[in-house]
Amino acid sequence: MDKREVIAEAREKGVKFIRLQFTDLLGVMKNVAITIDQLEKALDGELMFDGSSIYGFSRIEESDMYLRPDPDTFVVFPWRPRDGGVARLMCDIYNPDGSPFEGCPRVILKRQLAKAAQMGYSMQVGPELEFFLFCVDDNNIPTLKTHDNAGYFDLSPVDLGEQARRDIVLTLEEMGFEIEASHHEVAPGQHEIDFKYSNALDIADKIVTFKFVVRTIAQRHGLHATFMPKPIYGINGSGMHTNQSLFKGDKNAFYDENDIPMQLSREAYYYIGGLLKHARAMAAVTNPTVNSYKRLVPGYEAPVYLAWSGRNRSPLIRIPAKRGQSTRVELRNPDPSCNPYLSLAVCLAAGLDGIANQIDPPPACDRNIYKMTKDELDELGIKSLPGSLPEAYDELSRDEVIKGALGEHIYEKLAEAKAKEWESFSLQVHQWEIDRYLALF
Ligand code: GLU
Ligand code: MG
Ligand code: MG
Repeated sequence: MDKREVIAEAREKGVKFIRLQFTDLLGVMKNVAITIDQLEKALDGELMFDGSSIYGFSRIEESDMYLRPDPDTFVVFPWRPRDGGVARLMCDIYNPDGSPFEGCPRVILKRQLAKAAQMGYSMQVGPELEFFLFCVDDNNIPTLKTHDNAGYFDLSPVDLGEQARRDIVLTLEEMGFEIEASHHEVAPGQHEIDFKYSNALDIADKIVTFKFVVRTIAQRHGLHATFMPKPIYGINGSGMHTNQSLFKGDKNAFYDENDIPMQLSREAYYYIGGLLKHARAMAAVTNPTVNSYKRLVPGYEAPVYLAWSGRNRSPLIRIPAKRGQSTRVELRNPDPSCNPYLSLAVCLAAGLDGIANQIDPPPACDRNIYKMTKDELDELGIKSLPGSLPEAYDELSRDEVIKGALGEHIYEKLAEAKAKEWESFSLQVHQWEIDRYLALF
């Protein structure tokens, strides 16, 4: 869509307000609402806002930032009134001198995509987002109570969240998502909705939109949707498996029918090699919270070990069975608390590094890694993902490729924010400690 088409569609659909959206460093969606009279000015990139109040954006003395809406992201919110409706546009953040702002996650992803384009590739992504639906209490505060006791692929009437999920799917479809699957996940109250793969920028925009739509519609059903990676001890957490492939023109560059038996191209192997090489540093971005590391433990279908496989689900990377245009690599550690722009940017940077430096992956590992002994793991040279947020940051501080993809501004701000987050967590006295020590000592 171009500027003129956006304005025409907004008028035709009776839109009164437009929300100009972007994410902060942590991937939290922010927005500024304008009226339709301001739309043309906004589309010309002339709207200014004060960036100093957004975390990690800018210092007080240089706080004027400009929003540049991407006309392709125009969409009307289906749940708002037809008359006096509300629409949104995703934006890039620009400096007053007209240069793209280093602290804008969308700008960072675009820069990495431009690098890929120079090498002749575009990135296609299909995410699998999992989330929980929890009941709220009388004061509308989210609880950890689920509304159902259903399990994987169960059908109603056991699955009471079905109604909410159905409404979420229909709303997303009205907003241009092509939903491929939606089902109950393994844990009570846990759901997954998968939408069709598309180019990486479109998918990152869709992921932030998705989270916001799921929360909004769940709320209308009296439920709280959470994308927190591991809300409950002892049951599965929520992942955001990230299926990714590179295309050359309109052909999938990961497919090679002559490669027996995997039918993967050299580029696919190198891409896997790059992901495995950088996965520990990337975890700081793909698994960015204290809580993320409580999900990455054995026994809950989440990955722990740095290995890849054509079949089994215990390693970090799996190659789903489909070939041809659907040939792809499924990275299983990202979780939905990540900033999708940054997460896709670091995945791509790692994969491209693999291709540029011809990084061969280790042989595929088709055994259940969780059942291997420490000696077997050592013998095969299988390392694990970081066990905590500081371990991931320590790794990131030494990885120039991943740091380079984030850029200095974002890296510095994130490292600072995450060090504070870890400190605040570490200083807490947790219930576990009380239960364990209070009576004992
Ligand atoms: N919930 C699991 C995770 O944390 C994934 C389950 C699945 O394979 O879909 O990654
Ligand atoms: Mg799943
Ligand atoms: Mg999956």
